[in-house]
Amino acid sequence: MRISYSSLDTFLKCPLKYKFNQIDKIEEEKAKPTVIGSFFHLIMHYIYEKDITKISLQEIEDFIKKEFPNIQYHDFSEKIHKKLTQEDLEFILEKTKTFYDTNKNKKTQTISLEEKFEITLQDKNNIHILSGIIDRFDKLQENNYEIIDYKTANKLSSFNQVSQNKQLSIYGLGILSKWPNITLKNLKFSLYFLKHNEKIQTSRTQQDLDSTKEEIIHQINKIEKTKAFHPNCGWYCSYCGYKHICPIYKNEYCSSKTKEETKQLIEEYFKIIEEKEKLENKLDQLKTKISNYMKKTKTLLVKSNSGFFKINPQSTETYNWIKVREILKPLKKWNKILKVDLNNFNQILKEIPESEREKIYKLKKEKQEITIQVTNTKNIQNGQVKDNIKNPLEG
Ligand code: SF4
Repeated sequence: MRISYSSLDTFLKCPLKYKFNQIDKIEEEKAKPTVIGSFFHLIMHYIYEKDITKISLQEIEDFIKKEFPNIQYHDFSEKIHKKLTQEDLEFILEKTKTFYDTNKNKKTQTISLEEKFEITLQDKNNIHILSGIIDRFDKLQENNYEIIDYKTANKLSSFNQVSQNKQLSIYGLGILSKWPNITLKNLKFSLYFLKHNEKIQTSRTQQDLDSTKEEIIHQINKIEKTKAFHPNCGWYCSYCGYKHICPIYKNEYCSSKTKEETKQLIEEYFKIIEEKEKLENKLDQLKTKISNYMKKTKTLLVKSNSGFFKINPQSTETYNWIKVREILKPLKKWNKILKVDLNNFNQILKEIPESEREKIYKLKKEKQEITIQVTNTKNIQNGQVKDNIKNPLEG
């Protein structure tokens, strides 16, 4: 299979977006955060193409102001293309100035900008080609090199997250295959968070790169075997240009009448749930009071005109399972009463040799099931549903 890093990343985040883009070939509309991100990349390209140590801030600002009016994004709710605002321009100018002031005196040699690469991944009988584009590749002092990828997300990643960032590891594989004279120990891996003006520099071991290769092969195999591409929402939905056709967000873009009607039904549903919970609490309290009275007075039956409460003395049976096992095992019946535990099974899959694991994977059947998750928004705290269930509407 031939695949780009960005398509692979799309599949990992949301299989449905991958399908829209790579299989159905539906052109993606550009959301506002996406066009701002692309514009920052263009500005960085311009600065380093001209050489940051030689270009003035005025030249950069002139470039930004010249290009800015051409930028448009898609407003999904109004279904029209819009231009960025004056406020957006000021934000971009401010962040660029901060970047420039921090980096203008740094002595580095930029080897390439938006360097394209391809790596070959050998998987038993198949060969896969993974391609990518590296934002910037610099030569530092003392024969060191640095891969830099710009990020325009609002959230700043931690050092550990950057150390484990697969995208940088893949870029490392790309650089090492293009420039075999560069050694891994001289290679730095950085993410530059432009909105925070923060660069996080990390390194990689050979083991990191080898495990990244294995993981990509595993993911490519997964894509090839996938038949049903389900949506998987997350923070990246705010950048997604398929929101208007995505079944998760579709309701937001339907007619306001339908939207209002659905909203009212949901409101009514949760109002009744609330009343039901109150009544259930009241029922529990009454039940506790009555059964406490019965236990205290050792009464087995109490009644009114509407019904009765009766205590049925019960005894439950259990066995000494160790002894039962001793009897059933020689009769070859013990295994029959053991239940399949999927968690255990998945753990065991990790422990057995790959050849055996592959045999088991071939036995896997995909079962389509529809379940409806009902979540009361009152149970959502800090974007997370209580009890650690993922908020399905988290964008
Ligand atoms: S909006 Fe989110 S869930 Fe829907 S296709 Fe895009 S990324 Fe996937």
